[in-house]
Amino acid sequence: MVTPDRYHRQRLVDGIGDEGQCAIINSTVAIVGVGALGCMSASILARAGVGNLILIDRDIVEKTNLQRQILFTEEDATTQQPKATAAATRLSAVNSDISITAHVEDLTARNIDRLLAGVDVIVDGLDNFNTRYLLNDYAVKTNTPFMFAGVIASQGNVMSIIPGVTPCLRCLFPDPPKSSEQDTCDTLGVLAPAIGIAASCQCMDVLKFLTGNQDNISRTILTFDLWNTVSNRISCDGPVDNCTCCHQEQFDFLAAPVSEPVALCGKLAVSLPSPEHFDLHATAKKLQEHGSFECSDTMIRGEFHEEQAADGTAIKLLCFHNGRAIIHGTDDIRRAKAIFERYVGN
Ligand SMILES: [Zn+2]
Repeated sequence: MVTPDRYHRQRLVDGIGDEGQCAIINSTVAIVGVGALGCMSASILARAGVGNLILIDRDIVEKTNLQRQILFTEEDATTQQPKATAAATRLSAVNSDISITAHVEDLTARNIDRLLAGVDVIVDGLDNFNTRYLLNDYAVKTNTPFMFAGVIASQGNVMSIIPGVTPCLRCLFPDPPKSSEQDTCDTLGVLAPAIGIAASCQCMDVLKFLTGNQDNISRTILTFDLWNTVSNRISCDGPVDNCTCCHQEQFDFLAAPVSEPVALCGKLAVSLPSPEHFDLHATAKKLQEHGSFECSDTMIRGEFHEEQAADGTAIKLLCFHNGRAIIHGTDDIRRAKAIFERYVGN
């Protein structure tokens, strides 16, 4: 008797089979943003046997993530693990046959070619529209499918973008909403079941694409509100004739200036881009004179003695191996930049 392999139940499904499973194993999928959506998608795709998974996230695990970000533990939050590496560690224990690469980085126009080289499909796990529009331009320019999804509270939107076949984000919404107008999970909350629906729809279309079942990919925008039990599919046939991205091939978001510091919404924290030259251990040594800091092979974390937040607590610093940093205790970009430059350099 032949022992069923781990993908047996998946191979049995019409449209997958041995050939489809082989294609899944030989594929590379990037998940950009490893929060709630990204955790769910990464879990589904790792279990499905996607041979090369690339996980990209700039953030660390916090206790408020555990309600919906299914790959993380209390220990990940207590020890402030980067989401990308914590997810990779968990998924390696789920499927040791696949290769998982974690990038603890902010995806920007400067590093997107490097981080997404050779990717067959991009999965959206993001919480902001600026990076989504960057991905949209990259996807159309490189003819790479991009599975868009966004979820807030109990509502979600899902759309699979197949360049040249379906509309892109800019066909439908030429400009991203302004940061100040974007509702976020930090302000309106989010319920895990809504995440599950959106990520499942994204991953189903990933599997269809990878196994050569492109005709089955949804050509609609799915919108749903699980709390009020309503859902709707708006059909969208093809790229819009005058789309700046699809038709005029102006990839503005890939050309935009990059690596600006950003205040992290709802967190009283600022994310700072990597400086030109950076040495983790030399920086850790320098910081020791100004506060309590600990340094591992991948990051420095600690707090300053001489810098205080408005509530009197110490300003905290998290600095990754490439020099990207998060300053906690202020949402004032100028102050965060000044602190970083004073103690770390520029
Ligand atoms: Zn378009």
